[in-house]
Amino acid sequence: MQTFCKSLVPSAIMTTALPSNQGRKMVCVWPGIRQLCLRKNLMYGFMQMFSFPFKTIRGVSRQLGVSHLCSISKISSSLQIELVPCLKDNYAYLLHDLDTGTVGVVDPSESLPIVDVLSRNNRNLNYILNTHHHFDHTGGNVDLKARYGAKVIGSDIDKDRIPGIDISLNDGDTWMFAGHEVHVIATPGHTKGHISFYFPASGAIFTGDTLFSLSCGKLFEGTPEQMHLSLEKLLLLPEDTSIYCGHEYTLSNSKFALSIEPGNEELQSYAANIANLRKKHLPTIPTTLKKEKLCNPFLRTSSREIRRALNIPADASGAEALGVIRQAKDNF
Ligand SMILES: [Zn+2]
Repeated sequence: MQTFCKSLVPSAIMTTALPSNQGRKMVCVWPGIRQLCLRKNLMYGFMQMFSFPFKTIRGVSRQLGVSHLCSISKISSSLQIELVPCLKDNYAYLLHDLDTGTVGVVDPSESLPIVDVLSRNNRNLNYILNTHHHFDHTGGNVDLKARYGAKVIGSDIDKDRIPGIDISLNDGDTWMFAGHEVHVIATPGHTKGHISFYFPASGAIFTGDTLFSLSCGKLFEGTPEQMHLSLEKLLLLPEDTSIYCGHEYTLSNSKFALSIEPGNEELQSYAANIANLRKKHLPTIPTTLKKEKLCNPFLRTSSREIRRALNIPADASGAEALGVIRQAKDNF
């Protein structure tokens, strides 16, 4: 059994195998971590000593290579974000407010991995947040709602397509998750009702299938113009915003990105880092907006190298360039 730790407190770490009722391998990297997390003052002091977010990762996956992993971050705002691999390459995210014990999940593709984590931690589930209606983002809604009575939150535009929806939101709405402001940003392009959930106090955004690391979602129900506008909105967020997207596609995305911008040194180094992470079955998510600005071809539509590689005229608009890049990626 492999164990991983991205924490910078490795000297304190011991590994303990936990039983799994799903046949998943579970490892608690740091016994008692939950109790420590709950003692926020202690953790604050600890975090200040090191002045960066810590993450722990537990376990190894079936398909993803990261079956269950606990990527805990943003402790300083009392919101924990835990990454839960689902299906073949999806990520759901558990949100846990340490002050109130409120728990939410973003885009549960399936219910069992979520139930598994909640049971292990003896937690309830209060909310289900969906970025869009696709089955690999909402497949767990009905079962989780039945088990926990959780409320389902999604786009008003997709209220007829999101299973079990209770609260429908629109672009610009602010919704509160246990005292944390959640800004709803309409990000159509992949689907017409796609929304992203931005937690400003935690510096985190859940982008579903709009913005991936090194790519964007396929344009199933939208135009290049719509996707370009959606990405432009995200570009206005602070550069250190952590981006939690719906899939672990980064390695294959890096190959396409390098094929059209091979001279981008930042991209070369990021791609090497990604390959290394995936070799160790570690997730590449979250990424940051800063990293994506420097490396993601869909945020770099004005790059001369990309335009040259794809014969995009110098006077083509950003949206036109995005359309050509998207098409090239679809055929890559
Ligand atoms: Zn989708």
